[in-house]
Order: sequence, then C-alpha cells, then structure tokens
Amino acid sequence: MPIGGGLTTRGPRNLLRQIREAMAGAAPAQERLDRVVRTIAQSMVAEVCSIYLRRASGELELFATEGLNREAVHNTRLRPGEGLVGEVARMAQPISLSDAPSHPSFAYRPETGEDPYHAFLGAPLLRGGRAIGVLVVQNRAERRYDPDEVEDIQTIAMVLAETVASGELLGQEELRDVEVAPHRPERLKGQKFADGLAFGHVILHEAPLAPEKLLSSDPVLEEMKLNLGLADLKSGIDRMLEGGQGKLAGQSFEVLETYRMFADDRGWNRSLVEAVRSGLTAEAAVDRVRNEHRARFAKARDPYIKERLHDFEDLANRLLRVLAGDNPGQRELPDDAILVARNLGPADLLEYPRETLKGLLLEEGSAASHAAIVARALGIPCVGRLMGLRDRLSEGDLVIVDGETGEAHLRPRPDMLDSVQSRMAVRDQRQAEFAKLRDVPAVTADGTRISLLTNAGLAVDLENLDETGAEGIGLFRTEFQFMVSEELPRLDSQTALYKLVLDAAGDRPVTFRTLDIGGDKVLPYMETTEREENPALGRRAIRLGLDRPSLLRLQLRALLAAGAGRELRVMFPMIATVDEFRAARELVDVECDWARRRGRPLPALLRVGAMIECPSVLWHLDALLPLTDFVSVGSNDLFQYMYAADRTNPLVSDRYDPLSPPALRALQSIQKACADTGTPVSVCGELAGRPLEAFALLTLGFTRLSAPAGGVGPVKRMILSADLTAAKRGMASLLGSSAGSIRNEIESLARKLNVVV
Ligand code: PEP
Ligand code: MG
Repeated sequence: MPIGGGLTTRGPRNLLRQIREAMAGAAPAQERLDRVVRTIAQSMVAEVCSIYLRRASGELELFATEGLNREAVHNTRLRPGEGLVGEVARMAQPISLSDAPSHPSFAYRPETGEDPYHAFLGAPLLRGGRAIGVLVVQNRAERRYDPDEVEDIQTIAMVLAETVASGELLGQEELRDVEVAPHRPERLKGQKFADGLAFGHVILHEAPLAPEKLLSSDPVLEEMKLNLGLADLKSGIDRMLEGGQGKLAGQSFEVLETYRMFADDRGWNRSLVEAVRSGLTAEAAVDRVRNEHRARFAKARDPYIKERLHDFEDLANRLLRVLAGDNPGQRELPDDAILVARNLGPADLLEYPRETLKGLLLEEGSAASHAAIVARALGIPCVGRLMGLRDRLSEGDLVIVDGETGEAHLRPRPDMLDSVQSRMAVRDQRQAEFAKLRDVPAVTADGTRISLLTNAGLAVDLENLDETGAEGIGLFRTEFQFMVSEELPRLDSQTALYKLVLDAAGDRPVTFRTLDIGGDKVLPYMETTEREENPALGRRAIRLGLDRPSLLRLQLRALLAAGAGRELRVMFPMIATVDEFRAARELVDVECDWARRRGRPLPALLRVGAMIECPSVLWHLDALLPLTDFVSVGSNDLFQYMYAADRTNPLVSDRYDPLSPPALRALQSIQKACADTGTPVSVCGELAGRPLEAFALLTLGFTRLSAPAGGVGPVKRMILSADLTAAKRGMASLLGSSAGSIRNEIESLARKLNVVV
C-alpha cells in the first residue's frame, strides 16, 4: 500500500542508520527486505520502493517492494536491458524521470500494477563495477527528483549491494542463485609469456581494498580524513614524478603523469566529497566512486578510454591504501598465489615471495618485456594479454595459468582442474627426463659440439646453472640488480654480486653484460632529466653508459675487482656504431690502468665483447669484429629494430615472425662474418631457448646458444636428435622463400629429419 506524504527523518545518514536497523535481527530474509523497502519509501517520501536482484540467469527479479503488488515479488523478472529497471542495470547508472511511462524503455508489467506511477528514480547496486541489482523509488505525481535525492539513492544502493554480497541480507539459499560476483567458469585466451602450468588463488597486484566500514559516525572527520588522504596521494605521486623512490618502480613517466592529472580531477574529487557527505566513510566513498567509474567506462569500446579507466582504478586503489595505511609488502598471500595485474615492471614481480607465487596473469604486457623475462627466469608460468581479465575475477578466485597454450581458466570446473593436474604430472616427468640429460654433452646426432649456456640476472638464477647443466652463463643481465634496488647499488654491492656469480659458476664461463637501462627498464631512483618520446630508441644501454661514464666506470671497476685472478668476460649492449664500442672499450682500459696504479689484481684473462642488436652494425661487421674478443646476438632487440616493432607494445610486438627469411638471413650474415674473422659468436635472445628456433640457428651455423633456464633441457634434447648436415641443406633452400614466415616449412623439415622440436 502506497505510503504517501508521511514524514520521516530526512537525510541519508539517518536513513542509512534506519536501514541498518531494518536489516538487523533474526527475522527471515524476506521480512527484513520488506522492512528495508518500507523504510526507504518512507524516508524518501516515495509511494513505491522496490529492490531487484540479478539472478544467475542474468534476469532481474523483483525481490521486495513497498507499493507495487505483493504478488509480483519473485514473479516479475526482467531481461537485461528490459524496461527502465533493466536499463539502469545495463547502463550501470542511475536514471531519474518525471514521467516514466512516456520513456521508450518503459515496459508495462500488469502484475505489478505500476501504471499509475509517473516519477521514477532507479540506481544500480554496484559490485566490482557490475550491477547486481537495482533499487527503485517511484511517485504517483510527475516530479523531478533533485540531485541530492539522486546522490542519496546511490549511497543507499551501495550499502545494499555490500550487504547483499556479504550474505547479511539474504539467506545463503537465496544468495546461491543471485549473481553477486562473476562465478561461472570462464576461459580467456591470451599469449604465452612463460611456459608452465599452475593453479591457485588469485591475488590482485594493487588489490582493490574493500572498505571495512561503510557508514561514518562523523562526516566532518571523514571529510578531513579524505582530504588528508588525497593530499598524501598527490604528494606521493609528486615524489615519484620527481624521481623519488616509490612503489611505482618500473612504471613509466606517462602513467605517473596521468595519475597526477586524475588525482587533480575536479569531478573525481567532488564525487568523493559528496559521497562522504552523504554518510559514507572515506574508504566507502572511494569504493563507491570507483564502482561508478568502472561501470560507466566498462561499456566503452574505445581502448583509450578503457585504458583511462584502469588509471582511475589504480589511483582509487592507491588512495584506499593510503587511507588504510596499507603496506603491500606485508600482505598475507595464500601459499598457492596466482598474481593478477594489468602489467608489471620487472622489479614489481620480485616483491612477492617466490615460494608462494605459483603463476602470473597479466592483462597487458608482451612476451619480450622484461617482466616476462623475469617470470621465465623465476620459472613462474605466465600468460599475458588477457583482455578484460581483472573485470572477470575477484581476489581469492581459483584460476589455472596455462603457459603452454596461453590461456587462463577462471573458476575452473573440477574436471578441468583434474586434467591440468595430470598435465602437470606429465610435465614433471618430462622435467625429470631433461634432468637426466643434464650431464650429457650437447652434441648433435652427426657429431657437432654445441655450447649450451644459460641467461641469468638474479642471484636465484645461479641455482639454475647446476640444475640445468648449462655450460656457463652466456648473458648475465647486470641491470636486474639495479632494478630491484631501492637506490643505486654501490661499488661493494656490485662487486659482491659479480663475485657470487663467478664463484657459483666456478670453471664455467660467465659473460657479464653491462647496464642495459632505459626502454622498459626504468630505475626509479635515477632522475631522468629529459622525457623521451621513444624510450626504446632513446638513451638506452651503452648510450647512457657513455653519457654518464662515472656510472659505467663504477660498474667496470666492480667487474674487474670481482674477476681478479680469473677469466672475466664483459660485453656492451646496444652497440650501434663502431665508435661506441671503441669508447666503451677505452673505459675498460682506463679502469684497468686505475686498478694497476693502485696495485690491485686484475683478471687473469679479460675478454671484451659487443652485443649485436642494432641493425646498423650488420653493415659494419668488418670494422667492428676485429675490435672485439667475441660478440653475442641479442635477437630480441635486433628484430625489434629491424622490424620497427616495439617489443613491449602488444599491438605490434608479434607482427613479425623471427622464423622469416629477412630475420634468418640477417642472422646468417652475422654468423658468416664471425666465421670469416674467427670471432666467437653466440645467440642470447629468447630465440635460443625455443627448440624450433634453436634448430634454425644451428642450421645457420651457430654453435653457441644462451637460453633462459627453462629452455636448456628442451634445446639440448633437440640438439641430441639433430642431424645438421641434412638440416643445413634443407634450410638453404628455405631461405630463398618469398613467404613472410617459414615457420611451418622449418617445422616440417625438422619433423622429416626426426629432430625433436
Ligand atoms: C636481446 O635483446 O636479445 C637481449 C638478449 O637483451 P635484452 O633482452 O636484455 O634486451
Ligand atoms: Mg637487448
């Protein structure tokens, strides 16, 4: 029965309290829901108040009403988008109308008896950016709800959403069929970033914190808390922008700038303050505004707008953390954690304990990015480029990371889990077979000895050396130590790490690559004076080393000290001109002189090499090679530059296939020039760790490969099965192909020759 015109205490804070009271108690769920709608109707002076909840089928079912026919409860169901209620849910936005029946979306349901009501105000019950229901008030007379009322109903809807989802309002029985969070199994297709299989429970990097308390007891205090939090947030971002340290290590300058811009966004700030004034705690206000943003942007098709949504989300999460005084380093993780993130800087991954981190799922990223490289080094299966990932799962969901197929299974069914577990058992068996090959020399079926080395960059990688049976470290990425440090590593800590590596390697050779900073490898503590439009083409690697010789000299000093009395191999990254190599080598001489003058022991044998990763030097190898003691092909960069395709940009990073005539011919010309000049050459890009690609490298004449740890076993198995004499003949004819990719042809060749790829 409509209750008109009565009066009651106005203002959302009182109303929220009354709703709380209505929800409390041991009465059956339906009775409490009925009390809630009655309270809201009275307080808002509305003749009708109804709550619709989304069933698992997607339909919105009338769960309680004050004012409409009682018989309609649990009988009226609307499809998504059907009627005004469906429209509120679909848009995930409030709708306020003075004359609802004249609206094109109005759907008349005779059983509800709603035709005499003109004014309509509906607000979505948002959870995680999705509408799990709709709250509606209606009035018989045509009237416009004022903005405060629209604001109030959104706050009430938020409180209802939280209580429904927490199970406080509905019994477990009813809740089972109500769609409060995505709960169906889903399969998402992405890309393989790091091989392997894992399953476990989701932890969200920068997890959205759920506000602990929704209703404030003192809005003035809450507003102050919010303002202080906002100020903290902004000054934190400023500090990071100024090159200070922070948790954003690895994220680009642009992202920070966007954060800064959004943190100042007047609309965002105003919405937060209004939400607090309507009676929410500061945390709940951030959560409410975040949900509204998420719901609004989620429908956008434009990738730029979607991107901005993520920025807003990150910012809101950051603000929630500031308000909660949360320290991400101290989060408790389940012991089967699957980390889920939009993207990660290489250092971010290392903040998580290795023992409990079983897998990694990324919404973005690229297989050649350094976060993916770190995941491979740590042996953590990783799938990337999973569109919409974070909208489809919640913290604690069970997921499978399938690094073999590049898929993620969200909330898998038990049979799916069984099948993954048995595949994991098969993998373990295969790993055991690779382990048996550990001490078998890498010699091809027709007797060519191959040097199979491994790539490393972290102290944890040193274990891999013994486990894989690699003959040494063909590429030690020294910048990883710099990336995981809070400040520039000092001489003694650099020396200590290099000593540790050389000691662990014993007689096995180690090739240290000097600092390769820039591009996607950002040091949070190093001020960048100039912003670069194209960091991958910018002051990266040796360019930075030569511009800041003190940095490079310090590193060389540490390397020479660590290598005293033994063999030391040092190589320079990103050599684009012969002069760069000369200048870099001169710095080595300067440092040797410096040590000599002080009577410090020098390496027994010093070899200095260059990485071949800039296409320019391909046409100057005759000048470069005689200056070097060895070279190593960095195919990750070489191909990014050859194909003008940023390796970190998912839109372009896989537009070409390294198993294509231009890429393979370039490699062949390097191999030939090295053979002609007697220059030792290896390949240390990711290519060398994939059996089919490594097979192609052998057919081009390379006999020294440095692979990520996970690739050593599979590549050795390939080597043992390969008859190179026959394979080389086959490859020669394929290189003349006019096709964009000759992957299938190389695979057929390998299969024909019984090579295990
Ligand atoms: C490469 O570019 O192939 C390489 C090995 O170096 P990085 O991946 O560290 O740039
Ligand atoms: Mg490189």
